[in-house]
Amino acid sequence: MTEQHHISDLSVIADHARHKEEETDSFYRFLLEHSEQEIDDKVHRLNAQVEAAIDCTTCGNCCRSLMINVTSDEVISLGEHLQLSYQEVKDRYIEESLQGHFIMNTIPCSFLVEKKCSVYEHRFTECRDFPHLHKPGFLARFPGTMLHYGSCPIIFNVIEWLKRELAFERR
Ligand code: SF4
Ligand code: SF4
Repeated sequence: MTEQHHISDLSVIADHARHKEEETDSFYRFLLEHSEQEIDDKVHRLNAQVEAAIDCTTCGNCCRSLMINVTSDEVISLGEHLQLSYQEVKDRYIEESLQGHFIMNTIPCSFLVEKKCSVYEHRFTECRDFPHLHKPGFLARFPGTMLHYGSCPIIFNVIEWLKRELAFERR
């Protein structure tokens, strides 16, 4: 496969995305004409290539908008890293829903320092998994994924490379 150019400038990506809302609807209808497996295979491969080309530690843009769910095991492990007790981590960083679920209590996330996660090696599973392009079921998650198309360079480039690979006719 030939090497593909990628865009990582957040303002350029946001600008492109603003002009592509109709194209996104049309691309979604086009994707639905393909099998889930075919699209997952392509997205997984393109995602691996794009992730290798983009450094999340110099971006951090998702940490400005995501609501991060946290497990109690993750509270314990973060506490060990920060040398804080379970209760101290909860009091400082966690909000508990009525159902007892833990979420980070600030957006942007308290651990984001400029563009970098200050607990990167200890970040939560939800942070590690975003933008979820390595998982099966891309077509089912497409609308949710596209909410971040204009703000996540990985999503933006995977989508644009996918359009090219499938010879999607731009409208
Ligand atoms: S813990 Fe780190 S990776 Fe996760 S949202 Fe906060 S700053 Fe981002
Ligand atoms: S997942 Fe996307 S938005 Fe988040 S840091 Fe990486 S490239 Fe930036």
